[in-house]
Amino acid sequence: MHEWALAEAIVEYVKDAVGGHRKIKRLVVALGELQSIDEEILRFSITEILKSEGMSIDDLQLIEEEAVLRCRRCGHEWSLKEVSLDEEIRELIHFVPEAVHSYLKCPKCGSRDFEVVKGRGVKIVEVVAE
Ligand SMILES: [Zn+2]
Repeated sequence: MHEWALAEAIVEYVKDAVGGHRKIKRLVVALGELQSIDEEILRFSITEILKSEGMSIDDLQLIEEEAVLRCRRCGHEWSLKEVSLDEEIRELIHFVPEAVHSYLKCPKCGSRDFEVVKGRGVKIVEVVAE
């Protein structure tokens, strides 16, 4: 399971970051908008893995990092929220991030040659141990 493997990686990082502390006060993880992650499963997995390591967590926050795209032709930057997309396509992009290149083009110049600047991957924003 994708979320479980991700949770394991997050817990490994957290263990390093808190160096021996057993109680995590707060953990904030940003999930890219262009990332197909089930938040509930991820939340459950992180909590369970921490428990199995003899650790506990008070406040686990999963936040969404908005996707930002940059046109390679004109340099324009835009977010997914700025463009009007069918709900269906929005869903598709969420679950198949690679589809972003088939359905989007630069709102300024119409080019399909753009890069994803933000919104891909997972980042640990904050870890606080007690
Ligand atoms: Zn452009």
